[in-house]
Amino acid sequence: MNDPGIICYQHCQKNEKVFSFKLPDICNFCSAELSNTELRIPPFRIPYPFRDATKEPNSIVIKPTHGDFLNNYRNSSDLHIGVTDSLGFVYEYDVNGAVKSKNQAWFQCLPIKVIDRMNSSLKQYWDEILYSVFIQNSWAADRYDSEEHNCYSFVLTFLKSLHLQELHPFLENKTIFCQEFVSPQARVAAKYICLFRQLKDQNIVVQ
Ligand SMILES: [Zn+2]
Repeated sequence: MNDPGIICYQHCQKNEKVFSFKLPDICNFCSAELSNTELRIPPFRIPYPFRDATKEPNSIVIKPTHGDFLNNYRNSSDLHIGVTDSLGFVYEYDVNGAVKSKNQAWFQCLPIKVIDRMNSSLKQYWDEILYSVFIQNSWAADRYDSEEHNCYSFVLTFLKSLHLQELHPFLENKTIFCQEFVSPQARVAAKYICLFRQLKDQNIVVQ
């Protein structure tokens, strides 16, 4: 539903990949009718990187502070971060205080699996710790500070409270955490967004 369905294919030019929303009638290089000819690379769908946070249990989730990725995202500095529990509720902290919801604003998020394998006891443990952090007084609205006490503080406090050895080296501060977990995902997202925005203005993109 969300996925705009970007496809990639190659006809006659070995070094040029062509991207579009649907296969054009004719090749932009040789004008052959594409439905009647063999393609070097038949059309395949570019993986859509975004997910509905409510369907991504026990994950760290990121989205633009305002709006959505495809239309509004500019750079990594305007990202907001939250945590989902095993039922897909999103826990987040912002200027309104800590909130737990299945808010539609999270319909197009980047999920980050900080733990590779989640068994059922770990999921339960994750939920318990998340709730215990969520109800702490420190996440009141009037204690919010966009630099010092923000959405990242909430998520890092939660992850530290899990006391998992494998995560420990990456939780020292926001910068280290982002380098390990957020930036790689943000780069994938940025590539996709760039293609999407180009294709809104032109029928094909050649790379
Ligand atoms: Zn061609």
